Order: sequence, then structure tokens, then C-alpha cells
Amino acid sequence: MKTTLQCDFCWRLCTLEEGALGVCGIRKHQDGEMRTLGYGEIVASGVDPIEKKPLYHFFPGSQTFSIALFGCNYTCSFCQNYHISQIGSPYWPGRKDHQRQFPVTAESVVDKMNRTGTNILSYTYSEPVVWQDYMLAVAEQVHDHHGFNCMITNGSFSKSSLQRVLPAIDAFNIDVKGNDAFYRSHCNGVLKPVLDAVETIAATPNKILEITTLLIEGIHTAATVKTLAHQLADRGVQVWHLSRFYPHYHMADAQQTSEPFLKQMLEIAQDSGIPYIYAGNSRLEGWDTTRCPSCRLSIITTHNNPIKARKDVQMNIKDNRCKKCGFELYGRFS
Ligand code: SF4
Repeated sequence: MKTTLQCDFCWRLCTLEEGALGVCGIRKHQDGEMRTLGYGEIVASGVDPIEKKPLYHFFPGSQTFSIALFGCNYTCSFCQNYHISQIGSPYWPGRKDHQRQFPVTAESVVDKMNRTGTNILSYTYSEPVVWQDYMLAVAEQVHDHHGFNCMITNGSFSKSSLQRVLPAIDAFNIDVKGNDAFYRSHCNGVLKPVLDAVETIAATPNKILEITTLLIEGIHTAATVKTLAHQLADRGVQVWHLSRFYPHYHMADAQQTSEPFLKQMLEIAQDSGIPYIYAGNSRLEGWDTTRCPSCRLSIITTHNNPIKARKDVQMNIKDNRCKKCGFELYGRFS
């Protein structure tokens, strides 16, 4: 009789026989246990403004040290980081081997972060859901050193993995990519577990949640965005970034999303009542400004300039409240 093991890292809940890889190509049933291949082998790292994640409501103007291991459980045709998430995996049979890295201990990651002068660590670039065991080991060290953890993710948790990850992460940016048909046709995924994760995180005290949607003109429509806006608003989402698509990967021949289309979608998003709506990959004026939802004061005039953002926070926010009217703002500012 064959023995199988189940992986609960994502909604797929793959059941695997000895030697088998999950859909992600990263998790493997090996020697009687579930293992994460490439554990600790960091394939990308760097120091970025927190706004690049994007996170606009989590210590704006700060820097964050970012890391990634290889892998993803989706196969998005427009992936912006396909070289570290989709191709070149050393694990899939028949794939060309890529250069293996030396595993980095969780303690060493925190040392590196401290040397960069920040105490915010971001798990990003590829999909941390599939390497969450390493993420959690590092996140524990970060909290032990009084730092903060940010997860930039597709949000495709299983229920049990979200409960495991929630205490360790202070701020999430979840990519909500479109409607269910879009997930199935372009990502090899489904929408429901993502919306479930959004709802759970939004309802958890002291967690910051921001949503990003990459808008592909000609695929995403006004009706799609309207429905999505209401689904997010109903789940308590406060911050939504709508970002312009640039041709990439398997969609290199597609048309780039225009500014007028983006503006129309931003206005639809705003009508949903989500209080903080932002444009990404865009030069549209005024759409990277944080305004007080109550008195409309421009609290942070631009998130594209971290120095200016820091000054604006000092000038316009006190104890997380608008200095002009006292309204409590969503996020962590100091
Ligand atoms: S992370 Fe998801 S896709 Fe990968 S093995 Fe686990 S359940 Fe399957």
C-alpha cells in the first residue's frame, strides 16, 4: 500500500505519494515527510522603499529588506517575476538546472536586514505561500529582534496555513487578480480562497492589509472591476492599488493598459466606498496621494518620494490620526 502525505501550504491541499512534487514544484514528499525544496536558498534580495511592495499604509517613507526563494503555485501568463517563480526550477523533471544557492539561516537573514539599517523584512518577488516554512522561521527571528514582517502574496492560503501565518505577519499585500474566470484562464488558480484570506486578514486586529490588482485593458472590464470593488468593500478592505499592465512574459504581445482606462477603473473603485484607492505604474496626478477620508486633507501628497512621504507623516499625522480633524487613519504611521 502506498503512503501519501498532504501539503496544506495552499488551497490545493495536494496529496502526494513518496517522491512526488506538488503543483508548485517546490513541495515534495521525500523520505516520509513533506519538504520544501530549496529551503533557505535565497534567489533574490534587495532593499526597497516600502511603497514599492506596494504598501502605502505601513510606515510610509521606510525602507524594507526583501527576500525570495524560488517558486509559485500559480502559472500567471503575465508574471512579472517569472524567472524566479515559473521557469528554471531545478526541481521539475526535465527542466534545466539552475545554479543552486547556499542555504541562508534565519539568523543570518536578520543580521543582513539589520546591516541595511531597516527593521522591516518583506517576503516577496516570488510566492511566499509555497515557502512559508522558511518565511515563518525568519519572521520569528525578526519579531524576536523587534522588527516587522510584510508578506506580498497571491493570498492562496489553505485555511490552516493562514492561521499559522497570521500571527507572524504584520502587513500583507494581496494580489487579487480578477474574477474567477480570469483566475482559471490566466493563472491556473481560483478566486475563492483569495477572497476568504482577504476577509480573515481584514477582520484580524492589528494587521495591515492592502490589495493590488494589475489591470489588463481588453481583459479586465468596468463590470469586472465593479464586482471586484464590491467584493473587496464587503470584506472590509481599506486600501486598493489598481496598477497598469505592461506587456510581459507570455503576454509580451498584449497591449499596455492606457492611462484613460486606468482612470475610469479608479473612479469605479472609488464609488465602492473603499476609502484609500491608488494608481500603480501610472503618472495620473493625485492618485498616489493619501487623503483623510473625513476632512479630505492631503495627508501624504505623494508615495513616489519616500523623503517627502516621511515629512508629510510628521506634519499631518499624530498618533495615527489626521492632525486637522482627528480622524483615525488606517495603517501604522509611527
Ligand atoms: S504549496 Fe500548494 S501546490 Fe505546492 S504542494 Fe503544497 S498544496 Fe500543493
